[in-house]
Amino acid sequence: MPHSTQPHNAPTSDLPITARTRVTRSPERQRTDRAELYGILDDALVAHVAIVRDGMPLVLPMGFGRGGNAIYLHGSTGSGIFRAMASGTPISVTVTHLDGLVYARSLFDSSMNYRSAVVFGTATTVADPAEKAEAMRIVSEHLMPGRTAEVRPMTKRELAATLVLRLPLDEVSVKVRAHGASEEPDDGEDRSVWAGVLPLRLTALAPETSPLTAPGTPESAAARAYAARLAPAVPAPSESRSAAG
Ligand SMILES: Cc1cc2nc3c(=O)[nH]c(=O)nc-3n(C[C@H](O)[C@H](O)[C@H](O)COP(=O)(O)OP(=O)(O)OC[C@H]3O[C@@H](n4cnc5c(N)ncnc54)[C@H](O)[C@@H]3O)c2cc1C
Repeated sequence: MPHSTQPHNAPTSDLPITARTRVTRSPERQRTDRAELYGILDDALVAHVAIVRDGMPLVLPMGFGRGGNAIYLHGSTGSGIFRAMASGTPISVTVTHLDGLVYARSLFDSSMNYRSAVVFGTATTVADPAEKAEAMRIVSEHLMPGRTAEVRPMTKRELAATLVLRLPLDEVSVKVRAHGASEEPDDGEDRSVWAGVLPLRLTALAPETSPLTAPGTPESAAARAYAARLAPAVPAPSESRSAAG
């Protein structure tokens, strides 16, 4: 799991189930624990944002970050979907972790283990400069923990070119499947066939140095720490060099 560094701030109440957020299929997989929602969001790097534009659904992937009981999205002031969201069009944002492939003894009963969240609402533009800078810090630290301290602050021009939106986590559904294979009893499966789960997770390989980097510059501590968190077996720099020749 990438992170979960954010404190699970108030409100700590359970997620209310609304007509929109009530899970229909496999309702026992619906979760209402807000802390669990925060964990799912904090462990994810990508959200899929959906709007209806010109009568057509549009879903676009983007990075995000959570601050308290809201998520922040950032994009270009020239972006069509950002301008639409800023104008108050309703949106839906989905975050998904694929935790495993579930091999049952029939294709029909095979499944996936996952944690997913669907947020409904209307985003608002973060206009206050201090809140905007903090939102950008939240998104940056969510995507690249520790990097903010390694690079220069954003310029006024860069901030002006960036639209930051805040979406409250007020109407959200969470659905989780986290168990092994299950199947209808005696529906003809071949009992000599293996059943089980293939666990999946996000991993990182060793950081790759850009030719933009001046010779002798040490590798980013932020990138190395993140790589180590995602893949504890990443070799130390000296080991990588000797392995390479
Ligand atoms: C990685 C992954 C793969 C999946 N693959 C399939 C697949 O191949 N086929 C399939 O039928 N289903 C799949 N699902 C489950 C799918 O997301 C729906 O839950 C399922 O289709 C049942 O929808 P429903 O009719 O209950 O939804 P609806 O009745 O339309 O949903 C009602 C409300 O339930 C909530 N909800 C529904 N599903 C989710 C969810 N996954 N996470 C959070 N909130 C949810 C939403 O708020 C929604 O508005 C997959 C889920 C994940 C995470």
